[in-house]
Amino acid sequence: MVQREVIEVFRRLGAIETGHFVYTSGKHGEVYVAKDLVVPSTRTVIDLTSMMSNEFHDEMIDTVIGIAPIGGIFASHLADWIQENTGRPTFAIFAEKKPFVDSTGRTVLNVPGGHHTDVLVVRESLRRFIDPQQRILIVEDIINTGKSVKALIKLVRELGGEDIWGVVALWNRGGVTADDLDVPNLFSLCDVQYTAWDEIDCPLCRENVPINTEFGHGKEFVAAHS
Ligand SMILES: [Zn+2]
Repeated sequence: MVQREVIEVFRRLGAIETGHFVYTSGKHGEVYVAKDLVVPSTRTVIDLTSMMSNEFHDEMIDTVIGIAPIGGIFASHLADWIQENTGRPTFAIFAEKKPFVDSTGRTVLNVPGGHHTDVLVVRESLRRFIDPQQRILIVEDIINTGKSVKALIKLVRELGGEDIWGVVALWNRGGVTADDLDVPNLFSLCDVQYTAWDEIDCPLCRENVPINTEFGHGKEFVAAHS
């Protein structure tokens, strides 16, 4: 039920596109979820985080953390709801992606001429909200391969966050499990998956369906193939 509601919300906001897309993983598929388009609808963000917070009625969560900008916005609203449910303070902080700079001061690119390689950081002033005594909840918008949420979990642990309750996500598109993430709990509002193919197996490529260059990594793909 919730699942259908979430998809309906995304559709209403024009955040679900159909066509021929290249995802961050490099795989191809015919559905793209433009999560950025959910955030401007502030009421929707509040509604979605309210649905998420139902999982935490009795849970003591001290700190909610997400990856800025979108995960930070969701963390903020979610902490607010949890605080409302439990009557005790819950804080919201965020991690940021920063370009990786090598020892010579050069920005490292993941492929020559490509995107820079990101590292995830929590700014110094916010690290006081992560320590072995704090129970931490990690919020992620959409889990595809789980790569970015895994990086966030690793970072929280490195900063001394030993008590991670788990991960709450808007949408788990990749069938990722709590075991995969090595956390006690994983909850998502929506688990619907859409097929993704390796380029070589992509039926849309075979039919010469033009690649969408507006969303995902289509632009780079087209540039690299022309
Ligand atoms: Zn394709």
